Amino acid sequence: MKHYDAVIIGAGQAGVPLAKNLAKAGKKTAIIEKRFVGGTCINDGCTPTKAMVASAKLAYLARNSESLGVETGHVKVDFKKVIGRKNKIVDQFRGSAEKGIESTKGLKLYMGEAKFTGKKEITISLENGKVEVLTADWVFINTGAKTIIPDIEGLSETNFLTSTSILDLDEIPEHLVVVGGNYIGLEFGQMFSRFGSKVTIIEKSNSIIAKEDEDISTSLTEILQDEKIKILTDSQVTKVRSISQNEISVEIQLGKKEKQILQASHILIAVGRAPQTKNLGLEFCGVKMDDRGHILVNQKLETNVEGIFALGDVKGGPAFTHIAYNDYTIVYRNLIEGTNYTIADRPVPYCMFTDPQLGRIGISETEAREKKMNYKVAILPMSSVARGIETGETKGLMKAIVDVKSKKILGAAILASEGGEIMSVLQMAMEGEITYDRIRYCVFAHPTYSESLNNLFMKLDD
Ligand SMILES: Cc1cc2nc3c(=O)[nH]c(=O)nc-3n(C[C@H](O)[C@H](O)[C@H](O)COP(=O)(O)OP(=O)(O)OC[C@H]3O[C@@H](n4cnc5c(N)ncnc54)[C@H](O)[C@@H]3O)c2cc1C
Repeated sequence: MKHYDAVIIGAGQAGVPLAKNLAKAGKKTAIIEKRFVGGTCINDGCTPTKAMVASAKLAYLARNSESLGVETGHVKVDFKKVIGRKNKIVDQFRGSAEKGIESTKGLKLYMGEAKFTGKKEITISLENGKVEVLTADWVFINTGAKTIIPDIEGLSETNFLTSTSILDLDEIPEHLVVVGGNYIGLEFGQMFSRFGSKVTIIEKSNSIIAKEDEDISTSLTEILQDEKIKILTDSQVTKVRSISQNEISVEIQLGKKEKQILQASHILIAVGRAPQTKNLGLEFCGVKMDDRGHILVNQKLETNVEGIFALGDVKGGPAFTHIAYNDYTIVYRNLIEGTNYTIADRPVPYCMFTDPQLGRIGISETEAREKKMNYKVAILPMSSVARGIETGETKGLMKAIVDVKSKKILGAAILASEGGEIMSVLQMAMEGEITYDRIRYCVFAHPTYSESLNNLFMKLDD
């Protein structure tokens, strides 16, 4: 049995920087990873998908270049090259994360699956078949989440795809059915449509991205439908059957009455992700979870057991890389630098990488209405944005919610080309308490997208 000052379970977006920095601070540290260093983001999430989204966008632009006076001829997607490029980027990122761990003095990486076997005792089933038992003063759980597989009749007998397995297809699906109309489903849906697949998205709510405001969801629906993506809302897959190797029959309940059967070549399951806590042996350390298996933590990310912390997706709440990374900074600074940071009131920006992107920060109009806040809404269609017109990127809209009295920005939804970057400008304004009446007259470089924030806030009559 080996004793460490700190043991981190999971080399994800919180675990890797935490392990490196604890070791650098003089703590004898171990990090345990059962699959790939870097976790979901680098290996199966942000990095590979955004690399492939870039290829899909180029295919789309090439096909639609004539409107800008450029002829490209027939556009062919070499899918093997797309996957090859993606793999190279993933390898590069993973390799650099591995090197970072290897080169940190006082940090030991164990490749294997970890399980609590005592309060602060962890048993690792190593990749080489051996077993190692560690104890620690501090334990950090960073085990992330994995795809939820819904209970659909016949699904387990088909070769269904998840957001992980779809990244390694050999060929472009002829007809891809995507179950789930949220970020992951929509990014893949549009990506494969642009690679040449027929795509049908099935969403059980009455709109895609159902948590967003209706105008945002409607605008994105129209944009995707314009690209010939079929979207069935208020619909549920009830049965799936493999007909042949590349033929799946998908039975869908549309609304309450009508049933429809689709023939597809592939089906992607994207209905959400569940925390990886099932096989962690939490019963041996007494760490409590909610009814969905998320680890319960306080605002400093400590569990009910002193000295055991949970970071990233495994603790529930917003499941994004930047949140996992911010969790690391909070825990690290509190433990090593003696600060008193919490997750309360931290901003939660996010960006969906459809084209156009949806950059989001703060509250939505729906939330402001429900909370009966004294607010106003500014909307600017991208078709009125000079930069958008010049570059041919006129789809979507910019939207901001402001407080009438304080003139502070409460939230924004930017469905636009580079929507994530434009949203970040507003996020900085929110954090710096720069009010909308100042942004209205702020000098931005012309002609940038951000310059249109002048016009966005001109839409508000004082
Ligand atoms: C398709 C897709 C696209 C995404 N795109 C974005 C995006 O654009 N932007 C964004 O912000 N987020 C995105 N995300 C979400 C993002 O990837 C996660 O929020 C982020 O990776 C969470 O980091 P984490 O540190 O909590 O866990 P993870 O990065 O998931 O790391 C957890 C690690 O723990 C390991 N592990 C689990 N159990 C054990 C065990 N018992 N023993 C040892 N190791 C274990 C796992 O193998 C994994 O490596 C995407 C996710 C997916 C699936």
